[in-house]
Amino acid sequence: MNKDKTTLKRINTAHPFLRGALLCIYMECIALLTNPRVKLRFSWVLRTPEEQDALYAQGRTTPGTIVTWVKAWGSFHNYGLAVDIVLLIDEDGNGSFEAASWDVVKDWDGDGVPDWSEVVKVFKKYGWDWGIVNRAGKHIDLPHFQRPFGYSTSELKKLPRDSEGYPVLT
Ligand SMILES: [Zn+2]
Repeated sequence: MNKDKTTLKRINTAHPFLRGALLCIYMECIALLTNPRVKLRFSWVLRTPEEQDALYAQGRTTPGTIVTWVKAWGSFHNYGLAVDIVLLIDEDGNGSFEAASWDVVKDWDGDGVPDWSEVVKVFKKYGWDWGIVNRAGKHIDLPHFQRPFGYSTSELKKLPRDSEGYPVLT
């Protein structure tokens, strides 16, 4: 099991309601992913409104491909209520994880279940939603998980904020 320091730091940027559970989720996941060449990373947790707008510009007014459909405050990441994952792979076994994988079917640890599905199961057990269902009813954005506590992003935007800037959930 590979514990990722970057991920542990990012867990502390999640909404205060979620930090404890998110650490449990992470520890459960990495215990299940037994190939030493695979490391689970949370690639995004909290995303600032400025980062969200920069991401929205990508593929529209700045180079790159379109990766989001929403501007600042339109993503659950902007409230610390969403996580994106990636699997980091040590391809040559030298201890550095030089490749990133979003393969949802590869069974890196050979236990008969795709590693991605193992992670999905843990998040779901803790009540998180996996991916996003788009207007056409298609399940997309498979690296994404969210725990909105029944709120929409427009409702969250209107809530009072705590001293750290997170919406006060009741
Ligand atoms: Zn996401």
